Amino acid sequence: MRQVTILGATGSIGLSTLDVIRRHPDRFSVFALTANTQVEQMTRLCREFRPRFAVMADADAAEKLQVALVDIDETDVLAGEKGLCRVAEASEADTVMAAIVGAAGLPPTLAAVRAGKRVLLANKEALVMSGQLFMDAVVASGAQLLPIDSEHNAIFQCLPVNGNRPRNLCDDGVRRILLTASGGPFRTFSAESLRSVSPAQACAHPNWSMGQKISVDSATLMNKGLELIEACWLFNATTDQVEVHVHPESIIHSMVEYLDGSVLAQLGSPDMRTPIANGLAWPERIEAGVSPLDLFALGQFNFERPDLGRFPCLGLASEACRAGGTAPAVLNAANEVAVAAFLAGDLCFTDIPVIIEHALATASITAADSFETIFSQDEAARHIAAEQIRRSLV
Ligand code: NAD
Ligand code: MG
Repeated sequence: MRQVTILGATGSIGLSTLDVIRRHPDRFSVFALTANTQVEQMTRLCREFRPRFAVMADADAAEKLQVALVDIDETDVLAGEKGLCRVAEASEADTVMAAIVGAAGLPPTLAAVRAGKRVLLANKEALVMSGQLFMDAVVASGAQLLPIDSEHNAIFQCLPVNGNRPRNLCDDGVRRILLTASGGPFRTFSAESLRSVSPAQACAHPNWSMGQKISVDSATLMNKGLELIEACWLFNATTDQVEVHVHPESIIHSMVEYLDGSVLAQLGSPDMRTPIANGLAWPERIEAGVSPLDLFALGQFNFERPDLGRFPCLGLASEACRAGGTAPAVLNAANEVAVAAFLAGDLCFTDIPVIIEHALATASITAADSFETIFSQDEAARHIAAEQIRRSLV
């Protein structure tokens, strides 16, 4: 029986994880659930899953949850980052789903890694920010890091079985990773029409139902940029070994090309319960509630090159990955601030990359030699981005 902690239980990935767990009461039990501020939803989830701990990142929300669960004896309510880290590293849990959105997910995800858990990584921002240090912590603790991002889970499934340790791809006879991208809701929009797209349009993804932040990232192609960096760290690849292929159907979730010309792909309906179930049960396979693929109904697959002119965020991420050091952390932090401003109606869609480029040019990029350095550069980049947005408003 696996004891599972779900960081970000009320989100899109968190709820999909609980849906898979609900189908297998003989295999999985919920040890802890966490959320930021969503008290009502957490109350419902705690009543159903009866975790040992429920954590609210927000202190006021934790107080409210405590009141709402007063009649439930088996669940203790904790608050703040300390509470998140405590349930991520608790000895009673063996599996941690890291599904908090953004940089806020790094401390508890790292706590789970350092405690040597099976870590199911959805929170790509944590790895993008801290790259080498994060992977070093995985090796040091012997944690089992399994990718949940659909593309990375696909690549993981197409690579030779060698435990979960990333090796040199050349040793495995791999030539390239073909990272697929849907192209997002604005794939066919002209540069001119992108200037006036709304947050609601950006969040209406054609194939996937996701949280707001990753939906906007998918629309700018920053999501693919973050995933390029994520792939380089997870699979010990260089940016030159990863090529983005826009595939609007989102059925092929990514591919691995070998030296002999073989290309292995993982296909499936665009439903995150597939990679989640793969990570939860790995190396076994379990029912995930996902509709079978109907290739006759689909008829055909299409591919195109990404357009870096209309979608500069992918190019910025690729450059930050090549620059190394704290550049990816700066890129990520500026993107989080710019996306929040876009969602709030304070920034136009096409200014998102402008803010990020400015932050990358202004911040002092250094070696990423400690988590303290990364957190302080994250904070500095947020100030730079916020200041630039404020100036553009006046
Ligand atoms: P979401 O916005 O739907 O959910 C985010 C969760 O994190 C919620 O439970 C929320 O309460 C919690 N949270 C938010 N801010 C927090 C904070 N400051 N402190 C603590 N908890 C906080 O997001 P999502 O779509 O589920 O995505 C979660 C992560 O998974 C992201 O990193 C995203 O890039 C990644 N991911 C998502 C999908 C998807 O299909 N949704 C696919 C691949 C990767
Ligand atoms: Mg993805």
